[in-house]
Amino acid sequence: MLSKSLELIHRSIAFKLTLCYSLLFAVSALILFGATHFLLASHLKHEDHEAIRSELAEGVAQYKSGGIEALKQEVRLANEVEILHRVVSPLGETMFLHLPNDMEEADFEKDERQFPGREETWAEVQLGSNIFEVVSADFSDGYFLQVARSTKDREDFLERFREIFVGVMIPVFLLGLGGGALFAFRAFKPIRGLIQTVRSIVIGNMDARVPEARTGDELEELVTLFNGMLERIESLINGMKGTLDNVAHDLRTPVTRLRGVAEMAIQSEGDAEALREALMDCAEEAEHIRMMLNTLMDISEAETGVMRLNMEEVDMTSLIEKTAELYQYVAEDEGVAIHLATREDLRLRGDPNRLQQVLANLLDNAIKYTPEGGRVEIEGHKEDGRIVVHIKDTGQGIPSEELPRIWERLYRIEKSRSERGLGLGLSVVRAVVRAHHGHVEAASESGKGSTFTISLPIAQSGR
Ligand code: ADP
Repeated sequence: MLSKSLELIHRSIAFKLTLCYSLLFAVSALILFGATHFLLASHLKHEDHEAIRSELAEGVAQYKSGGIEALKQEVRLANEVEILHRVVSPLGETMFLHLPNDMEEADFEKDERQFPGREETWAEVQLGSNIFEVVSADFSDGYFLQVARSTKDREDFLERFREIFVGVMIPVFLLGLGGGALFAFRAFKPIRGLIQTVRSIVIGNMDARVPEARTGDELEELVTLFNGMLERIESLINGMKGTLDNVAHDLRTPVTRLRGVAEMAIQSEGDAEALREALMDCAEEAEHIRMMLNTLMDISEAETGVMRLNMEEVDMTSLIEKTAELYQYVAEDEGVAIHLATREDLRLRGDPNRLQQVLANLLDNAIKYTPEGGRVEIEGHKEDGRIVVHIKDTGQGIPSEELPRIWERLYRIEKSRSERGLGLGLSVVRAVVRAHHGHVEAASESGKGSTFTISLPIAQSGR
């Protein structure tokens, strides 16, 4: 169990990010440390060398002015506690020696032979436990002066610097590591929520949603969009389920009738007239099914953007007149009067056949659902770069609670079931209008009549 949790943490992006940043931080700190240490060490060494050189120059000057005695006096007076002075004869004997305070003569004698000769370059000598830097200068009479200084103070200082750096950097590093891990794990909380949600959806819980935190960052946006996408998918799936249920339900009736007619024909024992009638009924039912399936495919094509629109300039005024003319006889049959109130020149870019299908479906409904003696009015005008068409009837109207559902595929209001129809007309209208980047809406009052309004952009209609 514990090893599994550790494995999960180990594989997480938050862990990897924290590790990367910590490594980056450690490497940067080491580079900073190295550079600072190098500069500090060089600076201290330079200062030590300057001090030794100035002692050497002073010693030479004293020797030249007053011989070895003047030099001794100067050294004693100066009483340098850290610097070693040594005057050596041409034979290599020590003629004068001034040791730093913390050094015994015996210590010096023990390591004296390690001292370099008269070279003027810098040399390093181990005296006791300390390293001394030595430089020499000739007195022109064969004698020479050596000045040396221990590097101990410098090394001690650098050692302290290293200790302080490590002492500060370890807690800072641990704090950074802990804080970084905490922030990284908190920042990735929405992602974990996302994974959890997807996992529940995969096992069938379509209602699962990612908990939203108000952080205002990209992850919040991602979570909001993801939840929105889930809503959309769920509503599409529900829509598809509903459509499938409705299609199955609506296909059952014509198919049952088809089967009934066919069975009766089989039993009719060869009566040619009865067989002919039965075949005609079968053809009618088959046509009914074909129309329904075609219309369903049209709607799907328009909704998914696959429908091919043959875009051209459309004169909506004459399209309205043409459609009204087509329905004139039906309207007269039903005792409904059609009135046109469109005098403006209404032109737009669109697919004339599809737009006529829209007008025809709306006009067909208006006539169909308006009782004898009623009136249907079609009015069109321009408004803010759009063409708006109202199809108004004085028919039975639509109850307000049913109004939002009339656009659903195969949905028919109960009392309309006596009329011919598939419940697909308005779904086609909406899909085609949307494919033209327009919108359609319905307003209705039960018992008084309905008004359907389509609004289409004049320029750049359709895909
Ligand atoms: P249908 O083939 O049933 O007419 P539609 O999709 O065209 O299918 O319309 C869906 C339902 O909306 C209809 O069954 C009807 O109840 C209602 N409806 C549509 N237009 C009108 C209208 N002008 N007046 C009253 N009800 C209407």
